[in-house]
Amino acid sequence: MSLLSIGTVAFDAIETPFGKTDKIIGGAATFISLSASYFTKNINLVAVVGEDFPTTYIALLNAKGVNTDGLQIKKGEKSFFWSGKYHSDMNGRDTLITELNVLADFDPIIPESYQDCDYLMLGNLTPMVQELVTQRLVKRPKLVVLDTMNFWMDVALDDLKRVLKKIDVLTINDEEARQLSGEYNILKAARKILSMGPRTLIIKKGEHGALLINDQDMFYAPGLPLEEVFDPTGAGDTFAGGFIGYLAHTGDISFDNMKRAVIHGSAMASFCVEKFGTENLLNLTPELITTRVNKFAKLVTF
Ligand code: AMP
Repeated sequence: MSLLSIGTVAFDAIETPFGKTDKIIGGAATFISLSASYFTKNINLVAVVGEDFPTTYIALLNAKGVNTDGLQIKKGEKSFFWSGKYHSDMNGRDTLITELNVLADFDPIIPESYQDCDYLMLGNLTPMVQELVTQRLVKRPKLVVLDTMNFWMDVALDDLKRVLKKIDVLTINDEEARQLSGEYNILKAARKILSMGPRTLIIKKGEHGALLINDQDMFYAPGLPLEEVFDPTGAGDTFAGGFIGYLAHTGDISFDNMKRAVIHGSAMASFCVEKFGTENLLNLTPELITTRVNKFAKLVTF
């Protein structure tokens, strides 16, 4: 089943207690697409970069089977740039720099060949652009998943609330759930967010796993305890990519299958954090992923 993925394709500069990187490839859509590529081969990307974005980075996506016909390259402009610094517990982080650059006036053009998409992943970027994509698809996809972050709640809350009405699944972290709902208690926050539009909500809790919740049901996936946590950047996007990639692969959007998808997303995120940036996501195999999913199963079965 085909998957349309939008979001940032970016330069990231990351600082963790274990090291620091210069500008490396990052962005929500990058992590989503790489992660999903291990589950489905039909991934179409819509994003924008500047002239400064190396073609070798685009080739990394293509090598994983990601179609970049919908990736706009803006002459004379600079790519989105984000810089963040992690706290010593590796769960909290401060955003040091967000330079929108090409993202500021991004007009998402959807190639004709992308139109027949079954699964739509609205990765983290301007809520108005996320909404434009939903409007520009002639057929409503079978499933629309949206990911966002506090930055957009601060600068574009009304736009975000509008697009929430058009989606099926929202993924956000616990702090963002509190900010969006104005409720501290996570269950109350979830109820309030579910009344804003999405039928299903996933609250990501960093190393402590993820909660899948709808009006009737709830499922909790733990985080896999890891010895090496190098860089959590992109873990949320990698989770989302694994989640929707697994659903696209199986073609089943029932709550029970979403539980499996949450475990597959969590397994992918656990690989992501073990190395800087996208490094680990470039070198996985189906066998490694299956072994990790089995570790999750063992962790929660009693
Ligand atoms: P995550 O760690 O899953 O929250 O995602 C980190 C990725 O999100 C980085 O690769 C950044 O380039 C990207 N990012 C950071 N801030 C934003 C933003 N405001 N909008 C879209 N993407 C962002």
